[in-house]
Amino acid sequence: MKYFSLEPKWPERPSNPMTIVVAGGAGFLGSHLCERFLGEGHRVICVDNFQTGSRRNIAAFMGDPNFSLIEQDIILPLNIGEDIHQIYNMACAASPPGYQKNPIHTMMTNFIGVKNLLDLALAKNARILQSSTSEVYGDPEVSIQSESYRGSVNTCGPRACYDEGKRVAETLLWEYNSAYMVETRIVRIFNTYGCRMQPDDGRVVSNFIRQALMGEALTIYGDGSQTRSFCYVSDLIEGLVRLMASNETMPVNIGNPTEFTILELAQIVLRKTASESKIVQLPLPQDDPRQRRPDIGRAAAILGWSPKVTLEQGLEQMIQYFSRELFGDKSEASLVS
Ligand code: UDP
Repeated sequence: MKYFSLEPKWPERPSNPMTIVVAGGAGFLGSHLCERFLGEGHRVICVDNFQTGSRRNIAAFMGDPNFSLIEQDIILPLNIGEDIHQIYNMACAASPPGYQKNPIHTMMTNFIGVKNLLDLALAKNARILQSSTSEVYGDPEVSIQSESYRGSVNTCGPRACYDEGKRVAETLLWEYNSAYMVETRIVRIFNTYGCRMQPDDGRVVSNFIRQALMGEALTIYGDGSQTRSFCYVSDLIEGLVRLMASNETMPVNIGNPTEFTILELAQIVLRKTASESKIVQLPLPQDDPRQRRPDIGRAAAILGWSPKVTLEQGLEQMIQYFSRELFGDKSEASLVS
């Protein structure tokens, strides 16, 4: 069933209802997980400090008796009285401007915060999935990144707090699995976009759509020849749920392998929004990866997963969503194919 409806109607409990903690549950990805699990009739405990999450993202769940909110930073120990079956850790600012605002806190989130969640998983005998990132590959020297690639990360640079934080988090999961047999899952998430991203989040898809809709110039950093591969949120969520249900404890890439230059992305957004915005070039940030494209062979083999939504289809959804966010409910962007 579709979760949102005019008349609140909570779903039947499934035959195997679980209690699922979603850390970062008010954020872009976390709120989609909450929506999915509530729609399936599970109990959801959302933990969020609202650093980058938004109350609007979870407003529709607040009256659901299966939903609880714990307003807390994961760097503080978590005290949850009830049984827990699964923990999804989606808690960390993910846009470069977001995670660079307070880099030491970003590192603490990914070390102390992840340790707190692992201790919770250990105490509750729960399975835990860590949202890792393609950033563990740094500025990759190979043109398609498989899980066996060990990466090229500058440890002393503006992205290091996130890249190295996420790397140490993977190691912590691996050690808790080895030492205490905690059931751990690690997903390396590549660039993802979709509804519930904040228009001012600072990432490229949200910036370009917001700028195009507002009639502002699209800001390309550098010459726009750097590449990214963009995965729509619904595809990503399906991959996370499949990984959690699998037996795989080693990292798995989830992302869309169709690669675009940033200039191509700008041109598609301008066409889709029929915007007359100009493109301006700004300096390329330090350590900005030149290329990024996932090898999803393991996800296909282990999870039977591959993305279904094309960039054009996903952008149409997001343009409509941003249009409503920026201009109100009556507004619908006129899309051009
Ligand atoms: N970028 C850009 N204009 C923007 C925002 C980002 O050209 O307004 C570039 C950025 O330099 C990077 C790419 O787009 O090369 C993706 O940036 P994003 O912040 O979305 O995520 P990243 O993959 O770098 O973590």
